[in-house]
Amino acid sequence: MALLREPILLLSRSGLVKKLISTLPVTSTIVTGYVPGETVESAVEATGRLVDDGLTATLDFLGEDTTDIDRAEATVAAYVTLLKGLSLSGLPRHAEVSVKLSAIGQALPDGDRIALENARTICRAARNAGTTVTLDMEDHTTTDRTLATLRDLRKDFPETGAVLQAYLRRTEDDCRALAYEGSRVRLCKGAYNEPDDVAYTDKHEVDRSYVRCLKILMNGQGYPMIATHDPRMISIAASLASRHGRAQSTYEFQMLYGIRPAEQRRLAASGETVRVYVPYGQEWYGYLMRRLAERPQNLSLFVRSLVSKR
Ligand SMILES: Cc1cc2nc3c(=O)[nH]c(=O)nc-3n(C[C@H](O)[C@H](O)[C@H](O)COP(=O)(O)OP(=O)(O)OC[C@H]3O[C@@H](n4cnc5c(N)ncnc54)[C@H](O)[C@@H]3O)c2cc1C
Repeated sequence: MALLREPILLLSRSGLVKKLISTLPVTSTIVTGYVPGETVESAVEATGRLVDDGLTATLDFLGEDTTDIDRAEATVAAYVTLLKGLSLSGLPRHAEVSVKLSAIGQALPDGDRIALENARTICRAARNAGTTVTLDMEDHTTTDRTLATLRDLRKDFPETGAVLQAYLRRTEDDCRALAYEGSRVRLCKGAYNEPDDVAYTDKHEVDRSYVRCLKILMNGQGYPMIATHDPRMISIAASLASRHGRAQSTYEFQMLYGIRPAEQRRLAASGETVRVYVPYGQEWYGYLMRRLAERPQNLSLFVRSLVSKR
């Protein structure tokens, strides 16, 4: 099954496949399994349900690789509207937002300046609402630029979270650099199709790297955000927390909306903070394809959705 990841990601770039899949209604089971809806209301409602179950959330307005300034600005406006919606629903204590810099202008000419300004606007709106922002991490060609933007943002908004991907060979060093007091760091395995010279491509090597990174973060002074559904990684994180005498309030687990929901609730019931990543919006295609590439077992369900178109 692991062999299917690369072909699925390659196939997802085909215009024909994209057209076919994008015609799926958002109500299709395969889509709603991972994305609660296309509107702010659907995202806020889904967040309310998670909070009722003792979970917290980070919301992502879907969209990436923006090559047009108007779209970048529309994305910023969408985040500001979302943060107001969360505030009106009394949710900011339990819900923050995740932002991809490529969705707010990083790929445009002079993109680093534009993305930083746009990220500042979102961070300000988040702070006014009483919550925080985490910068998602994208493919390896953007890692240095994203970390540079994070450093600039943290001068005014030190609460801004970072993401590091264990599959990148550089990430242990990045973990050491970011394991300082007050630094919120989400550690994930990594979701993009990366070349062997920059990333571990063997699953076991990625897992070993994840554990090494986890050890650095859990032994450090920051606030680790352990983003994985992998039962082994979760139990290693829990052992490291007790070995380092970390209280449950000094780190958190994170999982994606719709994946292992029973485990999310089990961890929360045992006193852990569990944050669910809730993506919403019309641009769900790229996100859905990455989730399918991780879990080719879902392909049969997916093909049935395509055939029935409902
Ligand atoms: C909160 C959060 C934020 C993330 N942010 C980023 C980011 O900014 N940048 C980035 O590159 N990646 C991000 N990711 C994705 C991450 O890099 C992985 O691609 C993804 O989490 C799968 O890895 P895993 O650790 O769950 O381990 P895996 O080894 O992939 O999976 C472990 C187990 O989890 C379950 N599982 C995993 N995926 C699925 C699925 N799609 N459907 C059903 N079950 C599944 C299965 O039981 C599987 O055996 C994020 C993940 C999370 C949870």
